[in-house]
Amino acid sequence: MTDLKYVTTTCPYCGTGCSFNLVVRDGKTVGVTPFTRSPVNEGKLCPKGMYAFEFVNSPDRLTTPLIKKDGKFVPASWDEATDYIAQKMKTFKPSEIACLASARTSNEDNYAMMKLARGVFKTTHIDHCARLCHSSTVAGLATSFGSGAMTNSILDIEQSKCLFILGSNTFEQHPLIGRRVTMAKKNGAKIIYADPRYTPTGKQADLYMQFRSGSDVAILNGLMQLIIKNGWENKEFIANRTKDYEAMKEIVMKDTYSPENVEKISGIPAAQLKQAAEWIGTSGATAILYSMGITQHTVGVDNVHSVANIQMLCGNLGRPGTGVNALRGQNNVQGACDMGALPVSFTAYQKVIDPAAHKKFEEGWGFPDGICEPKNGYEVTVMMDVLTDKPGELKALYIMGENPMLSDPDLTHVKHALEEVEFMVVQDIFMTETAEFADVVLPATCYAERDGTQTSTERRVQKWRKAQDAPGEAKLDWEIIAMVAAKMGYAAQFPWKTSEDVFNEMRMLTPSYRGMTYERLDKPEALHWPCPEETHPGTPILHGAKFAHPDGLGIFFPCEWKAPAEVPDAEYPFILTTGRCLWHWHTGTMTRRSDSLDHEVPTGWIEINTEDAAELGITDGEKVKAMTRRGEVIVGAKVTPDIMKGVMFMPFHFVECAANMLTNNALDPVCKIPEFKACAVKVEKI
Ligand code: SF4
Repeated sequence: MTDLKYVTTTCPYCGTGCSFNLVVRDGKTVGVTPFTRSPVNEGKLCPKGMYAFEFVNSPDRLTTPLIKKDGKFVPASWDEATDYIAQKMKTFKPSEIACLASARTSNEDNYAMMKLARGVFKTTHIDHCARLCHSSTVAGLATSFGSGAMTNSILDIEQSKCLFILGSNTFEQHPLIGRRVTMAKKNGAKIIYADPRYTPTGKQADLYMQFRSGSDVAILNGLMQLIIKNGWENKEFIANRTKDYEAMKEIVMKDTYSPENVEKISGIPAAQLKQAAEWIGTSGATAILYSMGITQHTVGVDNVHSVANIQMLCGNLGRPGTGVNALRGQNNVQGACDMGALPVSFTAYQKVIDPAAHKKFEEGWGFPDGICEPKNGYEVTVMMDVLTDKPGELKALYIMGENPMLSDPDLTHVKHALEEVEFMVVQDIFMTETAEFADVVLPATCYAERDGTQTSTERRVQKWRKAQDAPGEAKLDWEIIAMVAAKMGYAAQFPWKTSEDVFNEMRMLTPSYRGMTYERLDKPEALHWPCPEETHPGTPILHGAKFAHPDGLGIFFPCEWKAPAEVPDAEYPFILTTGRCLWHWHTGTMTRRSDSLDHEVPTGWIEINTEDAAELGITDGEKVKAMTRRGEVIVGAKVTPDIMKGVMFMPFHFVECAANMLTNNALDPVCKIPEFKACAVKVEKI
């Protein structure tokens, strides 16, 4: 007789956090059905969610530990593999070890990795791929508002009177958030969309503003100038809730940011900018949605500060239908940051350099020989530079569920960096492009095979629930970490038996999660942090009465527009920008092993404006060579009027035409995010 069960869990793809039921037949996950009691998605799903069961039982899953011997991976027992790791790791100084946690794994795994790095290896170098997507959000909003997270909830979007979507293709990348935009529009909200590409999101807009990638600060300053000139600013909010307004005003009122000059910088017609300023300034409840179109620039933090500035200017914070809504990419980017998988903080952004926080974790963890020094470590992008530029300074890399050999900028540089690593461990569910470089590869469980939590883009902490057993000998990431720690002599510091044990230890050290229990999180609505006590209802909207700075005030940061690090010239005359598509996810490790998704979009492409293509003599579908100062790829051309003339676009999921062979690893000086969204490119017929 067939054994059939339905297990409610959370989607492992984007940061929206949709719930669904996994259908499990005779112990194997075979399908997805709606879970209508989820307040986030009410049973609806995008294609990635609908097919999120397909990769789970892929024959490519890693099933046993592997140790590289004479250049080839050979199977090993867990005992042998963890022994080997411990013996090797003991030979390195703390400063020679770096760890990467993961925005795809659970909060429990990220907390365990943070504890392994700082407590066992005693290194300060821990980071993860939020560095590549939203580190500018964390740095920018933390300094503007005192908290670096999305201010309002997904459901709250429906209450907006005006939605300004900037640098986010919401309808393809966060489709179930896009659904809330549609509902707001039905309620009468005006939708403004600004992006170099006329994406499916643009097709929903009342006003679409096409602009040159890299001109965000000029656009936002121009909008603020118009709002101030027309007297639409919220004087009461500015006076009572903020500081440093005059310094910001002085910058935005400069002639550089007149509508006509902004048109010259950005390409947005002055009349469109005026219309947008009126809707934003007079709606009474404008929300901004943004994503990596804003963050992935050498001025990423300035861009985020400018978004915060315009919302404070109009008093559009701390109320329903307003807010700065940074849409996080991967399912657990927010959680991995919250768990302290960052080079500057323990959990909940408690600073490593703060003596009180350092003492709290040192005492709380109870390592007899102490923990890492109270100082900041390297960001992942800096780790790669150190590996290539300062040989011998970093020697060991321990990576959990990340794939920098496809996700990071300038892959030739990344390859050279990974070749410099003396000893490398990778925990993952598949043999990734990065794992190929490792000395030891360890098989991990995926979301369908375990209990745990993740924190969605709206700070909602949600449960994963085990639907089936893991393949072969695969183990939970935190279990693997605890085994390695035990082999290093720290079994007593990793006593956990269940994911709930890990969560309970974490929340006792983490004020914003302290009031959450697995029992409370089992409800479909779960909880938004901050949730400081077990009777606290959670906090869907931040900054209601005051900002999170000690004085309760929001801070205006004046920002001048600066061009991208690399601009088009005679040799490389176009701007290249990169991103994702509806059907695939990040480096494709999961979606390219999902037949239904891969069938829809089997490979990558480069989008070229119709006029540019005609001038280059390129036709739709033709193979072309795309080249930057860092590399070249052969890729099919997609000729379309939907992308701005002078700008080209590539998705970065596809190893056979890897967009990141071309991208620039120039970094924002504050948060060290690379400039994925603008570099100079040329394209030739082949
Ligand atoms: Fe999953 Fe995001 Fe799609 Fe929801 S919108 S089903 S979370 S990929």
